[in-house]
Amino acid sequence: MAGTIQAVRGMNDILPTHTPYWQHLESIWRELLPSYGYEEIRLPILEKTELFKRSIGEVTDIVEKEMYTFEDRNGDSLTLRPEGTAGCVRAGIQHGLLHNQIQRLWYQGPMFRHERPQKGRYRQFHQLGVEAFGMAGPDVDAELILMSARLLERMGLSGMVGLEINSLGSARARAEYRELLVSYLSDHMAELDEDSRRRLHSNPLRILDSKNPRMQPLLERAPRLQEHLDAESREHFARLLAYLDDAGIAYRVNPRLVRGLDYYNRTVFEWTTDRLGAQGTVCAGGRFDSLVEQLGGRPVAAAGFAMGIERLVELLMESWDGEQPSGFPQLYMVVAGPAAERHGMLLAERLRSALPWLRLRLNCGGGSFKSQLRRADRSGAQLAVILGERELEQGVVALKPLRGGGEQHVVAESELVERLAGLIPSPAS
Ligand code: ATP
Ligand code: MG
Repeated sequence: MAGTIQAVRGMNDILPTHTPYWQHLESIWRELLPSYGYEEIRLPILEKTELFKRSIGEVTDIVEKEMYTFEDRNGDSLTLRPEGTAGCVRAGIQHGLLHNQIQRLWYQGPMFRHERPQKGRYRQFHQLGVEAFGMAGPDVDAELILMSARLLERMGLSGMVGLEINSLGSARARAEYRELLVSYLSDHMAELDEDSRRRLHSNPLRILDSKNPRMQPLLERAPRLQEHLDAESREHFARLLAYLDDAGIAYRVNPRLVRGLDYYNRTVFEWTTDRLGAQGTVCAGGRFDSLVEQLGGRPVAAAGFAMGIERLVELLMESWDGEQPSGFPQLYMVVAGPAAERHGMLLAERLRSALPWLRLRLNCGGGSFKSQLRRADRSGAQLAVILGERELEQGVVALKPLRGGGEQHVVAESELVERLAGLIPSPAS
């Protein structure tokens, strides 16, 4: 026999035991985001490589070493999207959604980065992305943060996450600060690790974000961007914090929070947890007021965030204490004998018409009563409907509880819908 083929390293299958948790989270944001006026946009997962180089920045981890880039059959350089903002802005410009308009958009889907796979870090992972265009003030920053807080709350994760926030100031203020930082770090060359030396002139702010413990004392003493912000950014930040205070949102100002992508300015924020080891950021965002222009559009203010869904699912599963959410069938229909099989197909269809919420699995592929009941049990269903030749003749079915005991009893087929509606009520009622 030929050898089996495994999935690409770092690209996970999400199995039926896990999908109910994903669906649970998805249902939360599908309900919540529209309640803030956000609309869904669906975007391709493949874009021209140039888009990411121009937006994320040439000297970032993502563009330098994490992109899945290849030539297609026409010789065009294409890249599997490593994040969603660039594509969202590209689509906004292309379809004229941004200039002189206000847009509140969201999307979800897979992203691709060639990183070292480990817990919370994969090569295909999923994000929920939210972007707001055409609003320059701190009010929309606050709205985004309040909305992310409410999302986490509905997911039952509030107690496990904390908010960190910072301001990167204007491009000008950052350029001035950058010189200060480079000169400080250059004075301490011996203490810089290899990554930081490489970044010293290409992307020095990213050094502040270093996770290397050996670098921490040096970085603690580094000049602080907070103290070199331009006046407007300082005011913007103060007003944002006032909104958060009004809403009772707890936060920690982290002067070293810089984010890994080049396009951010002013507000940046992250929701982090200490429950997932090193991969603790579950949501990250901020303003990117120059990105639309950078990608060829007329200037439009913008802000947004992205949540890492794998990390949310991991937190959710770890903290889940209720009954496991499941897509298990509630009802399993046993049909023994050719006439019963034929009738059962129609009966199952009738039940699905009458009780649209019912999760009913019909036994297909035959088998004895005993083996069908074993399948019924393994399916996780709470109840079996049994239809044999004898039941068929009498116009009845047997109902057998599969969980928590209870007697099997006989019900007239004409009363089955009503009986089931009582036993397995609609979740909406
Ligand atoms: P990190 O510092 O963890 O590498 P990042 O700054 O690269 O994160 P962003 O590009 O801001 O991350 O992406 C937003 C969120 O997407 C992250 O906070 C995280 O939850 C998730 N994420 C990013 N990269 C991965 C990955 N390789 N696997 C799983 N989730 C990821
Ligand atoms: Mg990263």
